[in-house]
Amino acid sequence: MKYELSQRAEDFIQDGVLERLIRETRVDDGRFREILSKSLDLQALTPEETAVLIAASRPDQIEAIFETAKDLKRRVYGNRIVLFAPLYVGNLCVNDCAYCAFRRSNPVQVRRTLDLEELREQVRALERRGHKRLILVFGEHERYSAGFIAECVRTVYGVREGRGEIRRLNINAAPFDHEGFRIIKAAGIGTYQIFQETYHHATYREMHPSETRKGDYLWRLDALSRAMEAGCDDVGIGALFGLYDWRFEVLGLVTHACHLMAKYRVGPHTISFPRLRPAAGVHRSWPMLVSDDDFLRVIAILRVSVPYTGLILTARERPAFRRRAMAFGVSQIDAGSRIELGGYTEAGDAQVMEREQFELGDIRPLDVVMRELVEDGYLPSFCTACYRLGRTGEHFMEFAIPGFIKRFCTPNALTTLVEYLVDYASPETRIAGEKLIAEELARMPDSAQKEELKRRLQEIRDAGSRDLYF
Ligand code: SAM
Ligand code: SF4
Repeated sequence: MKYELSQRAEDFIQDGVLERLIRETRVDDGRFREILSKSLDLQALTPEETAVLIAASRPDQIEAIFETAKDLKRRVYGNRIVLFAPLYVGNLCVNDCAYCAFRRSNPVQVRRTLDLEELREQVRALERRGHKRLILVFGEHERYSAGFIAECVRTVYGVREGRGEIRRLNINAAPFDHEGFRIIKAAGIGTYQIFQETYHHATYREMHPSETRKGDYLWRLDALSRAMEAGCDDVGIGALFGLYDWRFEVLGLVTHACHLMAKYRVGPHTISFPRLRPAAGVHRSWPMLVSDDDFLRVIAILRVSVPYTGLILTARERPAFRRRAMAFGVSQIDAGSRIELGGYTEAGDAQVMEREQFELGDIRPLDVVMRELVEDGYLPSFCTACYRLGRTGEHFMEFAIPGFIKRFCTPNALTTLVEYLVDYASPETRIAGEKLIAEELARMPDSAQKEELKRRLQEIRDAGSRDLYF
């Protein structure tokens, strides 16, 4: 294959260095406390500092990491949780990833690519449920060229069902070259996500046969650097937990985040940490599966190491676990998700393994998840204001500008929540949501902006206005 890497592309993951950090880092109480307070000062940690958190094993130390993560979540993100849904467009795939039901050698997978009308149909169904933010997901195949993905993006943005519309569309698809990323960016995407799956070279080779496109470690590791150079300054990294030692993957993610920051002055917008799930036609044993307790540590350590990066917890996880994990720094979740092709209109509530990539852990409807969130004191948000106003890349803005979250994020979460309550919510969710809105307003000091927010909330309820963002 002929391709062009990013400028000065380099393999910045040195297995030996990360292995040594895991093996040799010792936890000194003083240094441990210094590292936690560095994070509380909202500074990102280095891989060496992250290794100290990973090595911490005393119960009081683990507790201190959880408390710091909770504190950061409260201070940096407040009680907002951003909601989205995945939309699978096609499961053709030229790769043969050992863990994935879409892999080319899997005979039990039913192959399908939505045509544009079928895509619109799925989007209409999602809009009818109240979704405003989606991520389009693709296998890797010549049919899913940059031009095709761009066409899908424009198609989705064009769908209006009642008062519904998709206001932000993210992508999870194969790595492209610069030109491909430029084409997709021009269609108006939000985040481009690519997961390295495992940062550990030998495991990567074992999972991804070398003759496949995904078998090229550097092509994948370098992908989001090319995306940045092509103008996609909003990128998401991730690792598939369960393929190799979770400690190594956490260090890999932090190293990747530091690399992007150092090279492009912009870190990743989000980090995803999917945990391996059963998948149709995948029959092997996975000795490195991550337990719930260790996985909570993973989430908390990531929160503490990269205070400014959004953390995404997907519906791969079961409801009870998601509820626990939310407190430790998760900022985005998907809800009401279906991952079988056509699943928002065709499969009802049954999950059809032969049609999906892996088995989901949480298939509750959006409305049920919304109700649980508000009853737990979280403020669900469908806000897309920054992306719409061009406040991307420099997403540190929301943290760097004093009071930004109070001035913009919370009011926008409230206006998008009231839209949801009026247009889509069940009576129970509407009552719970209105109670939360009243509490949030009561907490805000009196100001001209608060009066303006109250006026807008009323305008949404009474006059049918929509999409009023700050
Ligand atoms: N084909 C593209 C790729 O591989 O990057 C697009 C994304 S793939 C459809 C989405 C992600 O699902 C993968 O990056 C992988 O991390 C995850 N995934 C694959 N098989 C999985 C499984 N059995 N359990 C959980 N997540 C899985
Ligand atoms: Fe294809 Fe992606 Fe699945 Fe690998 S993870 S087989 S590239 S869809």
